[in-house]
Amino acid sequence: MWKNGFERVEVLMERLSFQSYHQGLIEALNESDAEIYELIKAEYERLQNTIQLLAAESRCSRAVLAALGSVLQNKTSEGFAGARLHGGSGVIDEIERLAVDRAKEAFGARYANVQPHSGTTANQIAINTLLEPGERILSMGLQHGGHYSHGSADSLAGRFFDVEQYYVDPKSFVLDYESIRDKALKVRPKLIICGGSAYTRTISFAKFREIADEAGAFLLADISHISALVIAGLHPSPLDYAHITTTSTYKPGGPRGGLILMGRDCEQEVTVHGKSGSMWRHIERTTFPCIQGTPYLNHIAAKAVFFKEVLCEQYRARQLGVVENARRLAGNLVDMGYDVLTGGTDNHMILINTANSREGLTGLVAQRCLERCGIVVDKCPLAFDEKEPAITGGIRLGTPIVTRNGMGIEEMGRISGLVDEILRTVEIVGESEYRIKGSFEGHIKTQVKDLCSKFPIR
Ligand SMILES: *Cc1c(COP(=O)(O)O)cnc(C)c1O
Repeated sequence: MWKNGFERVEVLMERLSFQSYHQGLIEALNESDAEIYELIKAEYERLQNTIQLLAAESRCSRAVLAALGSVLQNKTSEGFAGARLHGGSGVIDEIERLAVDRAKEAFGARYANVQPHSGTTANQIAINTLLEPGERILSMGLQHGGHYSHGSADSLAGRFFDVEQYYVDPKSFVLDYESIRDKALKVRPKLIICGGSAYTRTISFAKFREIADEAGAFLLADISHISALVIAGLHPSPLDYAHITTTSTYKPGGPRGGLILMGRDCEQEVTVHGKSGSMWRHIERTTFPCIQGTPYLNHIAAKAVFFKEVLCEQYRARQLGVVENARRLAGNLVDMGYDVLTGGTDNHMILINTANSREGLTGLVAQRCLERCGIVVDKCPLAFDEKEPAITGGIRLGTPIVTRNGMGIEEMGRISGLVDEILRTVEIVGESEYRIKGSFEGHIKTQVKDLCSKFPIR
């Protein structure tokens, strides 16, 4: 009797202490650092009261946030599940295995590595798995929609590898696979990288693989921007076309971090730094100890939570909403006379040539005046754009966050109207300067706030 009762109390206390340890987190922060607490609160309020038309951001669930802010943050353990260098790794091994299994299920992959700290690091790992320093990469030009980590001059890959670039077609702004093929056969890269940060049309991974095979190159597909659509079956999957697929995990709505996936090529033998072995083993060696040290176990747990969420019908349905909203927004803007690159979009993002839309309007001024009125977008360098990277000739809009907040087609109508009103009314003074009347700013901000208040962050 006494013993049972005692045990029950023990179990209850254990549960309480675990819960209460994690429960008062935000209050604990407020007590120890009111300055940072207030700034985080200000950021929350900014997100709640403004329209986030961003393509490179989403929002994770509270469950994902909880995993990030847990005791797992403290665990130091190098190596992979089942082969750690440190003690006390039983629980985290289970967590990492779950994350891997769920990632494989979400993407239909044969191999998953959940350790990369970021999308950029995932790319560094993939590139250094396949190439020796000095070998050649063929990737999409940065201004044409590619990403820094694919070998732009200022990136690590740009320093250590010989990088050639392919571009979009100057008239259609769409990838021209024939010209990419010609370039690949001419420069004979060891690795071709596809996928980017500013490209609104469907990418044919099958065509890229054909080109890679013909040129005797490996293919890396970086789906950071479109991974949510790939999960939902709204964009073709690269898994069995690319030798290696990488993605950031926050763009599809998970925690900050990276992910490496493989399909049918995961057992392929490769020789790296004189050692032969299957490609996935080389990826693990390049992850640790080549590029990273201890994995972030709190992020790995958060990735596991996220990969479970994406398997729900609700997540897939939301991605359809993201694409429909983007199409509607793009369609409205085209109707109002904006120069939307390629005339529309197949995914979650929209690229607008601002100078062609209104004379003298740079990407920077468009970004600044929209933000001042409560609509947040990114300025964006466009292909064949002569403007400096800090100014740019365009903006990039995206619908993941507004859709996550519950907005639909009707709200896209209101938002495109507000964007147009701001860009039409602003007085352009220079490439970075503009004037806007206080009364106009207030009038738009009130409407933005009203709209946002109907869609509280959950
Ligand atoms: C965002 C992005 C990345 C970088 O991910 P980080 O986690 O921010 O390093 C890599 N590749 C592409 C195509 C991206 O859009």
